[in-house]
Amino acid sequence: MREFVEFECTTCRRRNYTGDKNKKAHPERLELKKFCPFCRKHTVHKEQK
Ligand SMILES: [Zn+2]
Repeated sequence: MREFVEFECTTCRRRNYTGDKNKKAHPERLELKKFCPFCRKHTVHKEQK
């Protein structure tokens, strides 16, 4: 079972990344360090539904 998720930059609140994840392997909200083109640096991106 895969679920479609969006990742939002916690600094500027923009949604920069989309993808899917394995809900069984990661039932909790994911937090990933990704490059934000709006902040122009790596920031923490939180999973949004
Ligand atoms: Zn940002």
